[in-house]
Amino acid sequence: MNMKRAIFGILCLLSIPIFAQENFKVYYEETDNGYKIYADNGEFCPVSVEIDFKIENLTSSIGDIKIIEVPEQITKFYIADLTVIDRKKALRLGFSIRYNHGNHLQKSYDKNYAYHLPFKKGTEHMITQGYLGKISHHDEYALDFRMPIGTPIYAARDGKVILVQESNAKTCADVGCEKFNNYILVYHSDGTFAEYTHIKKNGSKVQPGEIVKKGQHIGFSGNVGWSTGPHLHFVVFLQRFNDRETLATKFLTGNGKMAEQLEEGKTYRKSY
Ligand SMILES: [Zn+2]
Repeated sequence: MNMKRAIFGILCLLSIPIFAQENFKVYYEETDNGYKIYADNGEFCPVSVEIDFKIENLTSSIGDIKIIEVPEQITKFYIADLTVIDRKKALRLGFSIRYNHGNHLQKSYDKNYAYHLPFKKGTEHMITQGYLGKISHHDEYALDFRMPIGTPIYAARDGKVILVQESNAKTCADVGCEKFNNYILVYHSDGTFAEYTHIKKNGSKVQPGEIVKKGQHIGFSGNVGWSTGPHLHFVVFLQRFNDRETLATKFLTGNGKMAEQLEEGKTYRKSY
């Protein structure tokens, strides 16, 4: 049955393109009494979407603004029904969305997980900048491991590769070069992410969608992006819409029997 409806207003899609936009979309299909809203998520982890409906003569089954977690690798994920109130009147159907990786409503995660040092067994590296460091980690629980360009990087935890950026080559010591950062982004089973940053150009050995195991060689360090010298910037975080909630984590050090937080200025050896 095709009901003739006068629709005024436009469907407005305002989205924040954090990742390839073709990998995530929200859309509608007409039904007998209104519309159904669906999402497709081609990313390799859940995506949270905030929908702000702009509707007239329609009621939404989920209210006005809602944050919804859309599972990874799914098509036609049901979000809401929009039902026509008065069939004789014109209606307006519009919404704006913003979205990003992860579950933005998530609060808890595995606080006791002991990460592996992200470099080769039998080697050691110094933390040149620690959590909340004064150079560039002011409000960030991130670690800088000093290492020469081309040092093999090993996964600190099991996970799934979500994004890889390895095409940049430019470096400067200014925040303006942050957009040139090369990185490997990995999603963990407890909903946290790890970013391995400043890898050298074409320095990734993994691709989005790939499962990685802790201790797996995933790439080569570099000095690309916002950087003052060759190092690996490593950060674990929960993704929020506008920002990241970075997390302090523990690492296995020495022979791997003890887990501790790493401190600026200290050198840590991996003998496991
Ligand atoms: Zn850093």
